Amino acid sequence: MLLAFIFATSGFTQEPDNCSLQERYTVLVHGGTVYNEKRVTDAQLALISSVVTRARGELAAGSRSLDVVVNAIITLEDSGLLDAGKGSFRNTAGFVETDASLMEGHTGRIGAVAAMQRLKNPILGARIVMEDTPHVFFVGPTGEATLIGFGAEQVDEPSSYFIPYNNPKAANFKAGAVGTVGAVALDRCGNLAAGTSTGGYRGKLPGRVGDSPIIGASTYANDLYALSATGKGENFIRRSVTFDIAKRAEYQGVPLQQAADYVVHSLLGDVDRIDGAIIAISREGDIVLSAVNVVGELHGYASQSHNTTVGVKLP
Ligand code: ASP
Repeated sequence: MLLAFIFATSGFTQEPDNCSLQERYTVLVHGGTVYNEKRVTDAQLALISSVVTRARGELAAGSRSLDVVVNAIITLEDSGLLDAGKGSFRNTAGFVETDASLMEGHTGRIGAVAAMQRLKNPILGARIVMEDTPHVFFVGPTGEATLIGFGAEQVDEPSSYFIPYNNPKAANFKAGAVGTVGAVALDRCGNLAAGTSTGGYRGKLPGRVGDSPIIGASTYANDLYALSATGKGENFIRRSVTFDIAKRAEYQGVPLQQAADYVVHSLLGDVDRIDGAIIAISREGDIVLSAVNVVGELHGYASQSHNTTVGVKLP
């Protein structure tokens, strides 16, 4: 009886490495909230498409969801086309501070970094925290120095490496997509993972940390669901948005989409009056997007039965 209860809820269990491969797999990626669909560039759409298509191939070949999520986010960070990694916005003091987090659903392992100034790939910093340290969260220059000591790659000249894609002063300014990035995946072992990475929003104060590195505010995964969020981070932290969505779906027994729409539309939208969006998947392969007070969320998804689909407006 007790055993049945444990298996029916979202525990963290260790799957054997040599799982028997199920047919079902899913990947869903986001590139932030969108305020003006016309200003989302072809390059951004092509980037999301190629990331999703590669992730689909990796999952089909049996890759672990954690690896797929990290690979997807590295490519998004390196692209310089979104507000994460190379393309990160600067704070009001004129330098970049990045945030990222990662969670593996079936083990409950987490890793996060915040206010990083030199890491080339914040999501890899989060992975080092998860896999190589006994801790879960590193912050600021001292945390960064520790992670560099563990092998995290740093950029030599942050002021020339980080070029904010949506810099209003730049010739190519396109205020279309805000561009925090995230990815969630279900692999053929039935395991879920989620990750999020950002430069934070434009005009943030130095030292400010948003929701993207906070487990349960932006990134969350367990045995049942994997989620990643984008939007006004302060409100996502106050409401533990992705944890709340996952637990409402689980405890109330409602579909994941219904739980997500309640938290995003009714709480963040109607009560808080802020804009934001989430992506989420379930172990059954449900693909869930929910957004409020924006025209949409730059996203792409694919599964064992669904070729890569990329868009802004939610399906
Ligand atoms: N959530 C991010 C933050 O508050 C920004 C965003 O997703 O646009 O830092």
